[in-house]
Amino acid sequence: MNLSKTNYLIYQDCGKNAWLKIHKPDVYFENELSAFDEGLIETGNEVDDLARDLYPGGVSVDNRKDFDYTAKLIKEKTPVIYQPVFQTDKYQIACDIIVLNEKTGKYDIHEVKASNSGDDKKKKTKNELYEKDLAFQYITMKEAGVDVGNLYLRRLNPDYVRNGELDINEFFTKEYFTERVLEKEEAIHEEMEIAYDYLMQEEEPGGNCSCLLKGRNAHCTTFAYSNPDVPKYSVHDISRIGLSKRKLEDLIDSGIRDILDVPLDFKLSEKQENQLLVARKKTEILDREGIQEFLDTIEYPIAFFDYETFPSAIPRFNGYSPYNQIPFQFSVHVLDEPGGELKHEEFIYTDTGNPDEPMIKALQKFIPEKGSVIVWYKSFEMTRNKELGIRNPEHQPFLQNLNDRIVDLEDPFKAQFYVHPEFKGKTSIKYILPALVPELSYKDMNIKEGATASNTWNQIVRGELSEEEAEAQTENLLRYCELDTYAMVEIFNVLKRLI
Ligand code: SF4
Repeated sequence: MNLSKTNYLIYQDCGKNAWLKIHKPDVYFENELSAFDEGLIETGNEVDDLARDLYPGGVSVDNRKDFDYTAKLIKEKTPVIYQPVFQTDKYQIACDIIVLNEKTGKYDIHEVKASNSGDDKKKKTKNELYEKDLAFQYITMKEAGVDVGNLYLRRLNPDYVRNGELDINEFFTKEYFTERVLEKEEAIHEEMEIAYDYLMQEEEPGGNCSCLLKGRNAHCTTFAYSNPDVPKYSVHDISRIGLSKRKLEDLIDSGIRDILDVPLDFKLSEKQENQLLVARKKTEILDREGIQEFLDTIEYPIAFFDYETFPSAIPRFNGYSPYNQIPFQFSVHVLDEPGGELKHEEFIYTDTGNPDEPMIKALQKFIPEKGSVIVWYKSFEMTRNKELGIRNPEHQPFLQNLNDRIVDLEDPFKAQFYVHPEFKGKTSIKYILPALVPELSYKDMNIKEGATASNTWNQIVRGELSEEEAEAQTENLLRYCELDTYAMVEIFNVLKRLI
């Protein structure tokens, strides 16, 4: 068996996880891919396809096992090859694009990433991984007898702003990775050998999962398989415990796994202590004064508001940069006065054009000119309003006014005015709603969460659904977003009843 580049890169994150993928695929693939992961895969494919336009007219190797066809294309000195595949005794790769350099007579490798790298710290970590990615390709191609020239990384330029036709040469960066990879070639080659030996061993690697010392968010999907002694609600679920390595280490070293077994005198933050207190006593913490103070900041008429958006890697409209969110839908429940009649308004844009202008018009029509705009996790909605204002400066004052009136319904939960055992240390609406309003649930909805909503909208506007399917899915999107804002109304009512 050969070691593929994909598995080598998973090994960089965790050897055990890569071993399970190779030797126990039933365990590794036990959980279905999330809508979010599916979206990432689709985005990656879309960006790969677009990158081919950087070197048009190439020949594609469509079969991932067609090593002979690739060898033939190389022998014929085919100028541009998409997805060529190579293998040696130990390794196997599929490159994105290789281009014959007429001056050197060697093939340059262009590795395409659907990433815009984020901040400098993230960029450094990613660059180290990309160095290994390109080194793996370089070493494998060389061992397969191909003359390799330069190594380039082609990722998305975060500073690119679309203006008219997509400028593909501006959209993709062209970063020279040759020297930095060659400097590390020997060390990476040695590590590839170690990875090969580790991943090809028949016997399952023993020892503890290192994620025992990380918070729940860091765990991979095989955590439960490798750690059957860890209950579903464990010390890993203590709020922000992943950021307090020492505390988690102390608990694990003392053999403590269940959240209810944490000693009473164990030093935790106030928030963490509250989480454990309500879990142990199966009770609630209620700060009525705090809730009252929060409710006093809200002014009628109240608009309970929520956007749905799609993060498009490839900017579709003028003014958009890679991964800017396209707001395509909103729901708003309006309450004019205490005890008044609740009204619902909604908007969704399913044409192929830019939704900005019709979206702003609908906001102007449906959101009251005065009063509070209640959202959950305000930085998301406020950033969308800010971006809409930058792209549509004539509406900036209106959008700024919306932002000035935003109140975050998550705040009283973040401030610990209300702590419930079923919140499990979280303040996301997906935890708060079932605990406070159990009769209202996303369970029976056709669309249950935001990533599915995004992907569904994308399928509609891309024309990937039949007319009937698109109609049914548009209705599903409307009902999903409506529930998001209705959930806020109900949570608001619960808070009011509590005081
Ligand atoms: S839970 Fe962590 S250490 Fe265990 S297999 Fe997954 S990634 Fe590796």
